[in-house]
Formats: sequence, structure tokens, C-alpha cells
Amino acid sequence: MADFTPQPSCADPLEAALMPMQEAQDHIQQLVTPLTDAETCTIRAALGRVLHQDIISPHNVPAHRNSAMDGYAIASSDLQNDAFSLKQAGIAFAGKPYQGSVQVGQCIRIMTGAVVPNECDTIIMQEHVEIDGDTITIHGKQRAEQHIRQAGEDLAIGDTVLKAGRKLIPADLGLIASLGIGDVTVTRRLKVAFFSTGDELRSIGEPLAAGQIYDSNRYTLYGMLTRLDVELLDLGVIPDQRDALRNALKQASAEADVVITTGGVSVGDADYVKEMLAELGQVAFWKIAMKPGRPLAFGKIDQALFFGLPGNPVSVMVTFYQFVLPALQQLTGEAITAPHTFQVRCHDNIRKRPGRYEFQRGILFTDDKGELGVKTTGQQGSGILHSMSIANCFILIDERCDGIEAGSFVKVQSFSGLV
Ligand code: AMP
Ligand code: MG
Repeated sequence: MADFTPQPSCADPLEAALMPMQEAQDHIQQLVTPLTDAETCTIRAALGRVLHQDIISPHNVPAHRNSAMDGYAIASSDLQNDAFSLKQAGIAFAGKPYQGSVQVGQCIRIMTGAVVPNECDTIIMQEHVEIDGDTITIHGKQRAEQHIRQAGEDLAIGDTVLKAGRKLIPADLGLIASLGIGDVTVTRRLKVAFFSTGDELRSIGEPLAAGQIYDSNRYTLYGMLTRLDVELLDLGVIPDQRDALRNALKQASAEADVVITTGGVSVGDADYVKEMLAELGQVAFWKIAMKPGRPLAFGKIDQALFFGLPGNPVSVMVTFYQFVLPALQQLTGEAITAPHTFQVRCHDNIRKRPGRYEFQRGILFTDDKGELGVKTTGQQGSGILHSMSIANCFILIDERCDGIEAGSFVKVQSFSGLV
């Protein structure tokens, strides 16, 4: 019998020519040019959008020195070590300052947020005061300058309050409103086209014949993209046929900034995506040293960025978070910070072969001693989508690692904060 040497494959422990994840991320980063188009919108419509210009504070916040407590405003020069009395000269409400001046031996009644008169610099909590007509007696040790909020202590005039590239969160909307600014300039929304490939895929509502499955990838993609607040063009399921693929890719790349497909980028006989991409654009095919998610196509079709994700449902999500998400963020000019990871005790044994970086699905939980721990979701096949549904984190396992023993520490990335 003739000698047979198998081709390199994902069954090899240390497959040659696998590209490290970081290298793939760097290649992608180099090909992305941030959008320059911006639009103006109201603060409320700006939630989750990316600021296109810095927000500079036009005034101090708060604009005036004001009281942090309900109580009495006094001059610290009137303070005494023992109990002492002052005459109440007037009253100040939030938004309704006291109009007179405060003389030596006097105080005013003051509410939280009310302007502190110029002559006063100290607030006495009302709980520390005894009232007798218009005379108050102050008990307890009081500290000069206590319970005063200084003008500009939150934001000072001329401060850069938020930088271009900031993806606006609820606190930011309030911050901008506190400056009296009603409209902001944000990067325009990205348009993303996507479709699934595969003869075996059926849409919901259609009966399944032997070997057929429902298309789930378009729904997870829809979910992840919707959380990113992009405009969507869903082109449905495209069969493994050259003409249908060519037409879908042409339409998608003509209409969208980014095109995402799933399936057909592997080495199977019905994997025509490669051929069509070679015809329509500049697209590279990579085998990446990660699990799940080994095959990935990336490049450009005309002006559109193209991502050909693998077909397996977990691979779709993992490669989306690792490669597509950073590219979309870069396109909108979002200032990207590396995702937070942390070490936590693993309660399961994890089997792993060295060679690929693994994203195992994990469940973070608090054990009976009140300590954070992690366990796996069980079977880790790239087709087991329910692992992503019950997981709340990725357990991140280095290329070189050859397994984890229960009780040792592992690196995890929480899903909260992911789209
Ligand atoms: P492929 O990369 O096209 O060879 O697909 C790899 C595996 O993922 C196969 O088992 C496919 O049936 C499955 N698959 C591909 N696309 C989808 C999809 N849209 N929804 C669910 N499973 C899919
Ligand atoms: Mg396929």
C-alpha cells in the first residue's frame, strides 16, 4: 500500500501554520479606516452612540457654592467649642437664594442645593440644632467649612468632560444635560449586511427534512448587532451555489459598510464562499490558533469590510467578539479598551491540548464561603449553542496550557460588558 501522509488539520495537537489570534486582530486593525461622517442628535437619542467631538464644559457645575445638607448656614468665625446660639436672619431654598446679608451672630435656615450666602462658609445639620423661636442653639463638635459643595467641584469651566470616541452611557447623558447642552455630534450609524450560507439551513416555519437544521446564526448575529445599535440588512439564508452567493455578496457589499457571512469558509466540498470572494474582492483566509473558531475569511469587497465567520454557532459568537466587534468599534471611532479579565478559582477539571487558545464557556458563581468561583457549562463542542446561553463568562485558556485541575486559578472574561 502507498504511504499516506495526512494533511494538517484541527485534529493535530500542534498544527503548523495556525495564525495566532493577536496577529489576525492586528491585520484587521490595519485594514480598518474609521468613518468620518457624523450627525447631530438629541441627548436621549445619543445613548450607545459614539461621540464625534469632545464635550467641553461651558460653565461650572455646580454653578454656585451650595449646601449639601438641610440645616443652617453660618460663618465659621462664629463657631465655638461649647454649645452656642445664633439668630436666624432668613431662609434659602434650592433655586431661591437668601437675598440679604448675614451679620456676625446670625445664621440662615438652608435647604440642600440652596446657594450659600457669601458671608457663610459652614453648614450645620438640622439634627445638631435646638430651635427656640428665631434663636438656634448648636450642639456638638462642628468643623469649619463642612457640608459645602464648591462651585465647579463636579465639572469646572473649560474641562474636557467627555472625549471624542466615548460610547455614551446613561451617566454621560446626565453629565451632558448638567452642562445645559441639548444636542451632541456622534458618528453615523454603521450599516451591516449579513447572511447565512448552507444548503442544510431552513428558516423558521419550514419543515425539516433529514439532515436539515434551522438557521440560528442569523439570530445570534441579529442580537449582537442590535445591541451595537447598527443599521441591519438581513439577506436571509443563501444556498451553497455560486450564483446565489455572488449575487448576495454583490448586493451586501454595495449597500453596507460591513458584510458578515457564516459558514462555507472551511475545506468542505460545498464551501464556495472562498471562490466567490476571490472573484469579487481581496479576501484572505486564515486558520487561527483558537478554539472554537478556527477558519476565518477577512478582507474587502469594494469599500465594504468582509468577515466570513465559521458556520458552527458557538464559533460565530466567539469570532464575532474577537474580530468583528473590535473592527466595528474602530470604524465608529470608539475608543476601545481591552476587555476586563480576572483570575478566579476553577471548580472543574478542564481537558485541553496545547496548540490553540480556548474560549471555554463558564458559569461564575459565589460559593458557600462567599468566594467567586467558576465552573464549565459542560460539553464544549462548537455546535453546542446552549453553552453560550447558560454561560455568563468565557474561561480563557492559553495556547500552551495542557489542562486545568479543579482548585487552580483560571482567567475569565465576564459576559457583562460584552454586547
Ligand atoms: P460550515 O462552516 O458551513 O461547514 O458549517 C459548519 C457547521 O455549522 C455545520 O454543522 C453546519 O450545519 C453548521 N451551520 C452552518 N451555518 C449554520 C447556521 N446558520 N445555523 C446553524 N448552524 C449552522
Ligand atoms: Mg456549510
